[in-house]
Amino acid sequence: MTKVAPGRTKVAFIGTGIMGSAIAGHILDAGYDLTVYNRTKKKADALVGRGATWAESPSAAAEGADVVFTMVGMPADVEDVYLSGDGLIRAARRGSWLIDLTTSSPQLAKDIHDAAEVGEVHAFDCPVTGGQAGAEAGTLTLMVGASEADAADVEPLLETFSSKRFYFGGPGMGQTAKLCNQVSLASCMVGMADALALAEQGGLDTGQVIEMIGAGMGSSRALAELGPQALEGDWRPGFFSEHMLKDIGLALEQAEDLDITLPGAETAFTLYDMLCQIGGARLGTQALSLLYATNEDATAAGLDWSLLEIDSDEHDEGCGCGHDHGDHEHCGCEHGHGGCGCEHEGEES
Ligand code: NAP
Repeated sequence: MTKVAPGRTKVAFIGTGIMGSAIAGHILDAGYDLTVYNRTKKKADALVGRGATWAESPSAAAEGADVVFTMVGMPADVEDVYLSGDGLIRAARRGSWLIDLTTSSPQLAKDIHDAAEVGEVHAFDCPVTGGQAGAEAGTLTLMVGASEADAADVEPLLETFSSKRFYFGGPGMGQTAKLCNQVSLASCMVGMADALALAEQGGLDTGQVIEMIGAGMGSSRALAELGPQALEGDWRPGFFSEHMLKDIGLALEQAEDLDITLPGAETAFTLYDMLCQIGGARLGTQALSLLYATNEDATAAGLDWSLLEIDSDEHDEGCGCGHDHGDHEHCGCEHGHGGCGCEHEGEES
């Protein structure tokens, strides 16, 4: 294929949630012919209203498309959209491009790349960072699992919604780079929640503390942008806590494969897992502060600490899932991970 261009290149976009709807909007604004599909149709209505064409399935969206973007939630969603019987690998035209923007598993990205290659389809992972604000402004940073030369034909499309692109050379490498970002962010979020709790309990003006930290080495965009939201009790998601938990879990899996430990990420995993277990999965990541809040405030935000309670027999005899307790992080079972070793008794927060 020659370089993409509006008027010549047909684009499909699958997954029009918080990030996908904004990104697809920029592709549409740049003048590309756009077809969209999302599991819940109404989340694509605004794009259809602006001129996109609705498709009834991922494979229908891919029919005739030169470039297909995906921005779904979890690795299982990516697997479903690409590798199921009715998935993109079967539906994609020879010579077309499949670009996954989801934060997902590096190994899955490699599997998709290899499966696509068999049918002479180009596929690469391209997770993003910059949050909802970056998606809306079209200023995301991209972590590309391909070389710059290999992705050159689709670069103009990537430029419609990003301001920085880092090429990591090969399939899965974009996802690994994104997991490095998430590991760093996860510890920043724990730092934010710790600092705000200490400031509040220490009787300080919390707004002043955020400003003060922002002036020095302790600063982070997480604290600057999400700290004020946490102080206002605004837990609405720009980035879901369950997606943060998924990302840290993927990083820990990779660390295990590499035989290294990531203590900061492990702490963050324990805390986000706790938050998700007690009802915070669909709250924004700033809701980590609710783990430090009074029971009254946590309940008002929709959390229920009693959900964390685990039968003490399970601690002693295993839960029957076939994993050692230390391995629950990666098995996807419903059992508490941090909960197994945590010091919370449900009431204390
Ligand atoms: P989101 O709002 O939940 O969007 C995901 C969308 O994918 C939803 O609309 C969902 O449909 C759709 N979907 C899931 N499975 C599907 C399937 N099998 N077929 C079709 N559509 C499917 O989440 P998001 O915040 O946009 O995040 C998307 C991804 O980007 C996640 O991997 C996240 O970790 C990553 N990310 C997010 C941010 C952020 O700040 N939000 C930043 C960087 C990266 P339904 O509407 O039916 O649920």
